[in-house]
Amino acid sequence: MSDLGENQSGSGEDGGSKAPYLAIDQVAASEYLEYIAKYPRSKQICICGHTVTSHHFWESSQGYTCKPNKSYCPCTSVNPVYFAPNACYFKRASHGPGMKHALTLGIVAMTKSGFSGEWLVPLKCRFDDCNDPDIVPAPVTRHKRISARPSEINVFLCRNHVIQLGGDLIW
Ligand SMILES: [Zn+2]
Ligand SMILES: [Zn+2]
Ligand SMILES: [Zn+2]
Repeated sequence: MSDLGENQSGSGEDGGSKAPYLAIDQVAASEYLEYIAKYPRSKQICICGHTVTSHHFWESSQGYTCKPNKSYCPCTSVNPVYFAPNACYFKRASHGPGMKHALTLGIVAMTKSGFSGEWLVPLKCRFDDCNDPDIVPAPVTRHKRISARPSEINVFLCRNHVIQLGGDLIW
């Protein structure tokens, strides 16, 4: 890459190089436009259980912090998995997998109030070869154990894998 702002006027007439252009795929860009019109980022829920717009990117650390309410959530990435027509219910903290997870708590609270959401991703256990259909969100530690507190890492797991990773599930 040449220096930003340097005008390559010294290279003479157009030597066959193309003029700069907006390098996007028109079809993909148009699909993305429709996607965010249908699913605004403020109503997309990250797997941590909070809106995408609760996450803030910090240039200094090149990472995210998630702040859905007065306290911080340790989620450091953004992984939208659910669309919530009313996102105000997604401000809770996780204290375990399944029904104790912030994503579940938000979905249940919102659904009780008469709204229905939509999954943005297929529900699948994080273990590649696992096709068990009974899926729950779970906070996991860096050592791949189920956490009883909000965690940086949140994944979908089947019931068997939650138990294998040391979690207890109350359904
Ligand atoms: Zn998150
Ligand atoms: Zn969060
Ligand atoms: Zn599994």
